[in-house]
Amino acid sequence: MKAIFSKLYQGLIELIFPSLPQCPVCHREFIHGEINLCEKCITEIEFIKEDYCLKCGKLILSNQDFCYDCQHSNRHFDGSRAVGLYDNGLKEYIKLFKYSKYRMLAEPLGDLMSNYTNRFYDIDKFDIITYVPVHQNRLEERGFNQAALLAKRIGENLKIAVEDLLIRDEDTLKQSKLSRKERLKNLKSKFKIKDNINIDDKRILLVDDIYTTGATVNELSRILLDNGAISIKIITLAIGRDLDLKRKFKF
Ligand SMILES: [Zn+2]
Ligand SMILES: [Zn+2]
Repeated sequence: MKAIFSKLYQGLIELIFPSLPQCPVCHREFIHGEINLCEKCITEIEFIKEDYCLKCGKLILSNQDFCYDCQHSNRHFDGSRAVGLYDNGLKEYIKLFKYSKYRMLAEPLGDLMSNYTNRFYDIDKFDIITYVPVHQNRLEERGFNQAALLAKRIGENLKIAVEDLLIRDEDTLKQSKLSRKERLKNLKSKFKIKDNINIDDKRILLVDDIYTTGATVNELSRILLDNGAISIKIITLAIGRDLDLKRKFKF
């Protein structure tokens, strides 16, 4: 009898004070909005709103149209856009997202990317979504590919098929430890398209978590175009600042 009352009491408490969902980053309870992150964690993100490179989406000085890299190199993709700056909040969330216990961050982060894809591109013009591959060794080590999880979420939201098209052939040296020249060399022929894939005349959205120099997505765009695709657009979660902007403000 006592147990029944206790259960009833518990039920009544939950009815009056329903437990709120927890923020997947800071674990505080919060009122669920459109994006499954608490208000505080959302305000930690520096969203890209204006003054971005018209080609790659990188933050630039307001009197410029293109960033240093896009002015000085050939871009195979039509355009690239990012949700926010690779700094503060996003930098931390991407770091957490690497750990499997934070794997569910794919949901809110993928939702933000879906919103930005919708904002910057005509989503009816995409036939396929694909993502930057990781090497098999790294996949086994981590258990998942962050870019693939984000692509899956975007595909679900925008109702576009997600296909696994690309392979990272051998483990590339740690890109961040290399100079710009070495990075480009290191990328050559590390990627290839999977066998028996037909992407003739396809318009593809390529997904990655971070855009730095753009060398990886540029190389993958070249491969996709060489294999029959007709247009490649890119969406990433985070992006850096242009060199000129860094110089001026000493970031
Ligand atoms: Zn939070
Ligand atoms: Zn650019």
